[in-house]
Amino acid sequence: MSASSKTALVVSAHSADFVWRAGGAIALHTLQGYAVHIVCLSFGERGESAKLWRKGEMNEEKVKAARRQEAQAAADVLGASVEFFDMGDYPMRADKETLFRLADVFRRVQPEFVLSHSPKDPYNYDHPLAMNLTQEARIIAQAEGYRPGEKIVGAPPVYSFEPHQPEQSEWRPDVLLDITQVWDKKYAAIQCMAGQEHLWEYYTRVALQRGVQAKRNVGITSSRDIVYAEGYQSVFPRITENLS
Ligand SMILES: [Zn+2]
Repeated sequence: MSASSKTALVVSAHSADFVWRAGGAIALHTLQGYAVHIVCLSFGERGESAKLWRKGEMNEEKVKAARRQEAQAAADVLGASVEFFDMGDYPMRADKETLFRLADVFRRVQPEFVLSHSPKDPYNYDHPLAMNLTQEARIIAQAEGYRPGEKIVGAPPVYSFEPHQPEQSEWRPDVLLDITQVWDKKYAAIQCMAGQEHLWEYYTRVALQRGVQAKRNVGITSSRDIVYAEGYQSVFPRITENLS
């Protein structure tokens, strides 16, 4: 990663979330020259590994190892770097040291933008916690008084990626990202998630649905042939000098 390259940070509660929800954005920005870094706070070893547990003769360490391998393979396909905090899940809990560890990632990566979960998700309390930690770590990393002398971070935009149940999570996209040109990569990353095969086609349908909506929003006269898209909701106002 050169000093001048643009960077982005993705904070995923469990080790597969980034694939379904932001795999297209990761592959797209990697293609555009961004160095994208992913933090997986937990392996999702209890809550999102049902198929692995059903294999029998499993224990938490084996499940975590399998989940790490899958997530690493998916990140490799997408062209991103990944690190694992191994915070546990169901429940995932963070102490102050974890928060500082994430703030240090912000300082190190200096992201141009940040992706994480929706602030609400009544189906999964680890997801909003990941977003809360992300935002709090961002604020700490902005503070001159935290590890004085280090380069602080600016104000990178933060986006929520799509939760599994958007309506119940009160999530509404205000950005539709055209991921058509990298869909093959996203689907290849999705296929690394052998433990959650039931979601492969589901998230293909989500991408197609968002693609139709994106195409409708660019207008029928546009030459853009959008097939697949990802939805995002911005946390902060987007700053722009042009409204077209
Ligand atoms: Zn999750």
